Formats: sequence, structure tokens, C-alpha cells
Amino acid sequence: MLTFESISKTQEFSLSLRRKGIKIALVPTMGFLHEGHMSLVKMARMHADFVMLSIFVNPTQFGPNEDFSKYPRDFEGDSELCLKHGVDLIFHPDADEMYPDLSSTWVEETILSKPLCGKSRPTHFRGVCTVVVKLFNATLPDIAIFGEKDYQQAAVIKRMVRDLNFPVKILSVPIVREHDGLAMSSRNKYLSPDERQNALAICKSLDEARKMAMEGELSSSLLAETVKLRISQAGGNIDYIEIVNSETLLPEESVSKNSLIAVAAYFGGTRLIDNCFLIHKNIEY
Ligand code: AMP
Repeated sequence: MLTFESISKTQEFSLSLRRKGIKIALVPTMGFLHEGHMSLVKMARMHADFVMLSIFVNPTQFGPNEDFSKYPRDFEGDSELCLKHGVDLIFHPDADEMYPDLSSTWVEETILSKPLCGKSRPTHFRGVCTVVVKLFNATLPDIAIFGEKDYQQAAVIKRMVRDLNFPVKILSVPIVREHDGLAMSSRNKYLSPDERQNALAICKSLDEARKMAMEGELSSSLLAETVKLRISQAGGNIDYIEIVNSETLLPEESVSKNSLIAVAAYFGGTRLIDNCFLIHKNIEY
């Protein structure tokens, strides 16, 4: 397994692979890897000859009072996991390499970025789009894999790739959960044992809403209220609970087969997100 830190070296290497007809997949991450990330790697292996995984804690997608400086990092552990799962190359640039002095260019998607996480994190998706474009330009992938845990992020990236004509195919992978249902996340590390236990209210209440919808309760406000109540009762502080159309991300008053329920809530100081389709998909764990 190779590890590159330089953009120009990575570009040169990717170009040499592409000239030989070798198909490249990119899995962009911020590191502190877990089985959720590895499901993206598995998907990448299935669709490409050469799997690159980037590890970069991207400062521009964090707001001023967010957890950039304390975001967990473990490059050694990440490398071991990547080696075990057949990653061919880790791209691991530092912040100066990615954002040289006087960087003044942004990439911004302006519709799907606005609701849900975009309301409380107004500059987040601009940071995400910008870094993903930079990662694409460094690694020159044929395909790139994103997780549905960050459903809105995957939607924004798909829209950006379409709008800007990137020759990159975007694939997404279902949420990977812990044995008890909590969506895997690098941020779960912040949770105390009690918070970890209480945070199960997120996936449990989403599942409850899904079951209610499957049994015919189609009122979005009633379903959202149920989830809100369960999460509040467990001590969670809600950022948003919304039922939206899975393509437009606009609110839906009544549940349809395209309805997604999306949640962001704080347990202690940790902001967790989760989502599920209400009608046609189970939460599986
Ligand atoms: P992150 O390192 O948190 O920025 O995540 C990198 C990629 O892994 C993103 O596309 C995430 O959506 C995806 N990912 C993170 N956690 C999970 C999970 N539990 N299940 C599926 N994908 C995930």
C-alpha cells in the first residue's frame, strides 16, 4: 500500500494509471476510520481496479465553534485498517498542501446545501464541495464513493458533479450501524458511556417512525413529533428533525415512498446525524 502526501505526485501517479486503462476509485474521508468507511472501500473494490482513500480533516467544512481542532486522528490505526481492506493508496495531504496561502476560490452548490444541516452549518457544504473538487483534481478518479449516513452531503456532491460536468461517477453506500443500531461515526468516540446509551434514541425513534409510516401513519408532523419526543426524553438536544423528499430535500407534509426522515441532535457536546427512508427500507443492523 502506498501513502502519498503531495498533490502533484498523486496527480502524476493517477495519470500514469489512467494511461494504462486502470480504473481508479476514490473514497474521501476525514480519517479515524471504522467499518462504515470500510463498506465504502468494499464498494470501491467492486467497481474499480485501484482504490485510493483520502484522509484529510478539512478545516473549511468546520464552523468557527465546531470540533476541527479536537477531531479524532489516528493515522497508524487508519493505515492498518486500510491495508487489511485492500486499499492501494492513501492520499494524506496536510492543510498547507491543500490550502496554500491566499487560496481564494470556492465551489458552492446553492440549493440542496441550504436545508437540514445547511441551516445550522451555513458554510459546511461550501467547504465540502471545495475539498471534494480538490481531492478529485489530486486523485483523478473514475468513481468516488460516499456514505448515505451523510445523505445530504452525497446529494450535494451528486448535484455538483452533474452541474459542473465532472467525469466522475458517484456511488453511495447504505449506513453501517453498530450492533445496537447507532450509526457508526468517528464522532461516537466523544460520547461518554451514558451519552452513548442515550444516543440510541436516535436510531430507535427513527425505526419507530418508519414502522408507524409503514402501518399507515403518513402525517409528517406527527411522525417528527414522535421522534422529537423520544430524543428529548433521552436527553438529546435537537438541531432538526425533518421529513423531506429524498431528491429535492424539501419538506413533505405527508409521507410518500420518497420520504426521508433526517435527524441531527446533540448528546452532550456531540452532534450526531442519522436518517432513514420511511416507507421502503428497513433500518438493518
Ligand atoms: P467522514 O470521515 O466522517 O467524513 O466520512 C467519510 C465518508 O464515509 C462519507 O462519505 C461518510 O458518509 C461515510 N461514512 C461515515 N460513516 C458511515 C457509516 N456509518 N455508514 C456509511 N458510510 C459512512
